[in-house]
Amino acid sequence: MYDFIIIGGGILGMSTAMQLKRSYPDHRMLLLEKEDGPARHQSGHNSGVIHAGVYYTPGSLKARFCLEGNLATKRFCDEHGIAYDSCGKLLVATNDTEMSRMKALWERTEANGLEREWLGAEALAEREPNITGVGAIFVPASGIVDYAKVTQAMAEEFERLGGVIQYGQEVRALDERRQEVVVTTRSQTFNSRFLVTCSGLMADRVVRMLGQDPGFTICPFRGEYFRLPSQHNAIVNHLIYPIPDPAMPFLGVHLTRMIDGSVTVGPNAVLALAREGYRRRDISAMDLAGMITHPGILKVLWRHLRPGMREMKNSLSRRGYLEEVRKYCPGLTLDDLEPYPAGVRAQAVSRDGKLVDDFLFVNTPRTINVGNAPSPAATSAIPIGAHIVDKVKAQVGACADL
Ligand SMILES: Cc1cc2nc3c(=O)[nH]c(=O)nc-3n(C[C@H](O)[C@H](O)[C@H](O)COP(=O)(O)OP(=O)(O)OC[C@H]3O[C@@H](n4cnc5c(N)ncnc54)[C@H](O)[C@@H]3O)c2cc1C
Repeated sequence: MYDFIIIGGGILGMSTAMQLKRSYPDHRMLLLEKEDGPARHQSGHNSGVIHAGVYYTPGSLKARFCLEGNLATKRFCDEHGIAYDSCGKLLVATNDTEMSRMKALWERTEANGLEREWLGAEALAEREPNITGVGAIFVPASGIVDYAKVTQAMAEEFERLGGVIQYGQEVRALDERRQEVVVTTRSQTFNSRFLVTCSGLMADRVVRMLGQDPGFTICPFRGEYFRLPSQHNAIVNHLIYPIPDPAMPFLGVHLTRMIDGSVTVGPNAVLALAREGYRRRDISAMDLAGMITHPGILKVLWRHLRPGMREMKNSLSRRGYLEEVRKYCPGLTLDDLEPYPAGVRAQAVSRDGKLVDDFLFVNTPRTINVGNAPSPAATSAIPIGAHIVDKVKAQVGACADL
């Protein structure tokens, strides 16, 4: 019998496991991951940005955890010898509409307590000679890191403290009883007094295994990238983001300096036809059937039909994709777009057709389940893990056996 089982070897599962073990050093803990190593899905396929907390609704969990997570991630990297770069980020407006949106973002950064600087066109050109715009917001706290390395270091820390990780263990069934939770994988059955699940793209299915209606379904959005050729590694000095359309849930195609020295362009956001569908041709009949019969997802697709079609068109045409980035980096050409692996975002959609905006958790007496943890959840992984540990402490108080 384990005291705690954690499902999911992404950054949230590993962060939670590490912090749970620190809080309960003598308790027996097991982390189960279906892949053959950590960070094989979202945590290993992302932009690698340590977000500062620009966009999020003031007072939301995203706003709070991102601000805390920015510092906590850098501290964790310092403690574990992981490279990161606090290179800062520029949000660039390219026309009058974007300028008025930029003013609204400026207010939001104020409300979120961020250090930032307003740049006119000349100051922008001075900082970034290859970027064109009518103005920009500079946010110095944004940085870059390799989240797969962060996840790996968290896994090592959990094991050093005595936790056990088993890879290649896909959880197939869960049975929550009065005294325990029974966890069944393809090959084994485990018993635990308490369960935490951080299962990313499978979050709703895992909650359903507990016999609960999660109230949302996961909609997978693929984010496709290109990489610039190495002669462009110094094309920008900061991360360059467009001013996002507030009607759109994602941040828009950006130029991202990666911690390995390269620069990526992306990601866009197109509906993936398989939850773990990293290539355009990946289709899962089961995932697709789940999507086209879910009234909430259909409403979301209908509501975002025009921008969705544009994203789809730009996904199929490199030229269309290029035009998105040429709005602020006009020197790039088609030859500059080299292939780079895509990621798939797990975005929860409610039954009434809303993209769930904030981080979301689903609790039962002996379980805590992460339901919605899109970007900036990698940045926020340490505070999210701490939040789960606090919730565990509150809940285990009611379980006399823990
Ligand atoms: C394209 C893209 C760009 C992004 N950019 C950024 C960024 O720059 N900055 C940022 O902060 N965030 C970013 N994010 C978001 C961030 O990557 C995710 O929010 C974060 O990685 C979520 O971590 P997770 O542990 O919840 O999920 P995951 O990393 O997906 O981990 C979930 C794990 O659960 C496992 N699992 C699922 N079901 C089972 C089962 N039944 N049994 C056993 N194991 C199971 C999976 O195999 C997986 O390893 C981005 C995401 C994407 C996709």
